[in-house]
Amino acid sequence: MTSSEPDFKRLVFIIVDGAPYKIFRALVENGDLPHIKRHVVDRGSLNKAVSAFPSTTGPAFIPFFIGLYPGTANIPGIRWLSKSNFQRPHRFNRPGICSYMGLDGLSFEADLPSDAPTLFNFFSPVSNIYNLLALGCPPAKNLTRWIKPFVYTHAHFSHRWRFVNRIAIRRLHEAAEAGDQFITCLFPAIDTFSHLTAIQSPAVLQTYREIDAAIGKLVNILQKANTFEETLILITSDHGMSDTHTHIDIPQHLDNKGWRCLHYPKVWRQDAVSASMVSGNGMTHLYFKDSSAEKGWGARTPFEKLCQMGVVNPLIELEGLGFIAGQSETGDIMVQSRGGQGKISCHSLEVDHGNSQNVEYSMKCADSLRFSYEFIGTDPLGYGVFYKNLSSRDALRETYDSPYPDGIVQLWQIFKSERTGDLVLSAANGYDLRARYEIPKHHATHGALTAEHMHIPLATNYPIAEQCIRSVDVFPTVLSLCGHNVSGYPIDGRIVQ
Ligand SMILES: [Zn+2]
Repeated sequence: MTSSEPDFKRLVFIIVDGAPYKIFRALVENGDLPHIKRHVVDRGSLNKAVSAFPSTTGPAFIPFFIGLYPGTANIPGIRWLSKSNFQRPHRFNRPGICSYMGLDGLSFEADLPSDAPTLFNFFSPVSNIYNLLALGCPPAKNLTRWIKPFVYTHAHFSHRWRFVNRIAIRRLHEAAEAGDQFITCLFPAIDTFSHLTAIQSPAVLQTYREIDAAIGKLVNILQKANTFEETLILITSDHGMSDTHTHIDIPQHLDNKGWRCLHYPKVWRQDAVSASMVSGNGMTHLYFKDSSAEKGWGARTPFEKLCQMGVVNPLIELEGLGFIAGQSETGDIMVQSRGGQGKISCHSLEVDHGNSQNVEYSMKCADSLRFSYEFIGTDPLGYGVFYKNLSSRDALRETYDSPYPDGIVQLWQIFKSERTGDLVLSAANGYDLRARYEIPKHHATHGALTAEHMHIPLATNYPIAEQCIRSVDVFPTVLSLCGHNVSGYPIDGRIVQ
């Protein structure tokens, strides 16, 4: 093989929705996933990667397929509100308020940056199974586009998620037999069974084994076609999960404090002055109406003002809240818990490069960001040390095995989005932030910045030595392994080796 030849020609991208790194790793090591171990991990590696905040389906897919953080892509949650657009001219006109769990699910792709290429743009033919980020995939090759709404609705009410997974398995094998160069397959059942039961319930563990058997058959198909050696297989998850014992009623809390709160499904409430837009349900965006705003709800309310308004203190007294984050008047990100306050600042080392239109320029800009972190009292993020002028990679490395992995950069990126709340709340493990209107009731949670929700498995049949990997790094890394040059794209990720 010459050096100009790519390592792989085909890519099979498997997303096991809601598989936490720790559980996945234990199952591989205990021999519960023999096909994944033999054909993928033993030939390559199983890494602990870090998802994006919020760690929830939808926003957490954007890093994989486009290489951008949810905040950069301006999709900071599965639900959000745009203060500047809300109630202008009418509250339900887009892009005022959104829940991709409802009819707005159809708008998810339209809300993505229009000029950014997706993984689908680099291969042909391609196929997509259940994954909701199919931008760039020809409609005819989005294999579940017609049946997905029906089978998902059916499974939602009947809990027959095994049936949904089986359709995915069949489609995956058919696409491999057809010789598609890029296949994305999302398995939804581990996430949904975990929400319904627990993260290691018998139904969940059986689903892992069924997915493993499906990978075994996939490898058989590739071997028969003599294309196994040229196929990069990647198995990952969009987020982890943790079991839930207590639901915190954030909208009720705000109502009780006099901040009448909009929340799904009660988004038509009159005279509301706050809104809670929950994701996963371990995180939520809180928005507060600026009564002096002429149109909409005004701009982002600074953290200092929210403290003066008496919003922050009662919230941090709630049991089960991990932390609250907001943006200071200075632009810094403030992180508050009961015991202390942290501050994240970011500045660019970049001097004038002459041509700000140059794509190379924006890549260098990302590399030139420097992050600092300090706190008073008990560190709300649990790092316990001050950091000064860390690069994005160093900020990742320093916080990788902490209770809030990559918290410095992840909290910075989410506040880049105009649709991010005045406050962002992250629940402690065991708690979620939605006490009503979740039917059926959730017994497991994701969405928060905790290690249990952020650490995801990254299994590849090609060894990746790098120990600290973000989900945004997957996009440039797999493209590079398949021989595509991505250096010209302004993305948040970088190639890991
Ligand atoms: Zn979920």
